Amino acid sequence: MDKIKMTTPIVEMDGDEMTRILWQMIKDNLLLPYIDLKTEYYDLGLAYRDETDDQVTIDSANATKKYKVAVKCATITPNADRVKEYSLKEMWKSPNGTIRAILDGTVFRAPIVVKGIDPCVKNWKKPITIARHAYGDVYKGSELKIPGAGKVELVYTGEDGTETRELVHTFKGAGITQGMHNLNDSIESFAKSCFSYALDIKQDLWFSTKDTISKKYDHTFKDIFQEIFEAEYEDKFKEAGITYFYTLIDDAVARVMKSEGGYIWACKNYDGDVMSDMISSAFGSLAMMTSVLVSPEGDFEYEAAHGTVQRHYYNHLKGQETSTNSVATIFAWTGALRKRGELDGNNELAAFADKLEKATIDTIEAGEMTKDLALITTISNPTVLNSEDFIKAIAKRL
Ligand code: NAP
Ligand code: MG
Repeated sequence: MDKIKMTTPIVEMDGDEMTRILWQMIKDNLLLPYIDLKTEYYDLGLAYRDETDDQVTIDSANATKKYKVAVKCATITPNADRVKEYSLKEMWKSPNGTIRAILDGTVFRAPIVVKGIDPCVKNWKKPITIARHAYGDVYKGSELKIPGAGKVELVYTGEDGTETRELVHTFKGAGITQGMHNLNDSIESFAKSCFSYALDIKQDLWFSTKDTISKKYDHTFKDIFQEIFEAEYEDKFKEAGITYFYTLIDDAVARVMKSEGGYIWACKNYDGDVMSDMISSAFGSLAMMTSVLVSPEGDFEYEAAHGTVQRHYYNHLKGQETSTNSVATIFAWTGALRKRGELDGNNELAAFADKLEKATIDTIEAGEMTKDLALITTISNPTVLNSEDFIKAIAKRL
């Protein structure tokens, strides 16, 4: 059989621990036998990040701007334990944070839906994708504990020295206060990423804030989305047969629970943090969540939503068998290959991505799965496979 040819490379970001092991297995069993795989390889494994003073992470993000499509393996975000474990020169920043900052992107998370892994919400039939704004609000807030009676104000000092004040509260006793901010530029990038991703996957876009209570802060989010929609996207949405829908967050939550899914729900930073955990656990498993970072220019970086599965890796190092779910990592690859195929007019490559996804889903629906899914499936007597045998079972169907 002739292998599928590629014209433009994909940026390949290798990673750490158990997912690094899965990464190689996926390439060896599911990709390299069928595709003349062209990637520009960046080793984001912690040892090499340390060796290059994290330059490799920055280079991989810049390469993503050049080639427009990347696929990333999960990586360790170092903490004090990791600094010791890997004798690091520094506690390097989260690679995802670095890449997100360079691409100025928004993260979209969606569950992979299969028969036999049923959502807790019985009317959810299609995936719900959460788009979380990744800048500001409470995550960049300043806080004060108020010891006793006194006045708290917000003060804006313009470059010319003029002051604008807003009373927060006149305290009669002890309390707490918080100041937070966001940037119009960041909100605009968020809006553009959401509109362009909705067009990309041809799904409706919902957006919700608490603009009735927060008449300046949240209302600005609502206004910026509306302005950009009308100026740049309204016609394209009509053409694609999709809609943009703004509603109050309480109303959105109620509608989401009653919906059958199949849309993107854009959320402010905190709402997205909370709602994405709710959506992923209600759909079944973190190991079945995909994640894609989309820049306002339309660069795409695909990955699994879970981490490096450290506990399984340590068992693997001890020579014990693991049953680690590779589905989200496989779908990161198929997402990137399909996007590469679309951008290059390479139909064979895009069709291969569809076939690999179908082979993966069929394998699970036939009752062959890893332990994490076997514990929650409604399929009776599932066959529990180890990490490698699960990938081989997919290869057989493929
Ligand atoms: P994790 O790797 O997501 O794993 C947490 C637990 O979830 C695992 O111990 C396992 O449960 C289960 N799990 C997650 N993915 C699974 C899969 N594919 N198959 C089967 N079970 C799976 O999170 P963590 O242990 O908190 O973090 C480990 C490392 O990952 C950390 O160094 C963190 O910095 C990094 N991380 C990276 C990313 C990223 O690169 N995007 C995201 C999150 C975390 P059981 O142990 O019960 O089997
Ligand atoms: Mg969270």
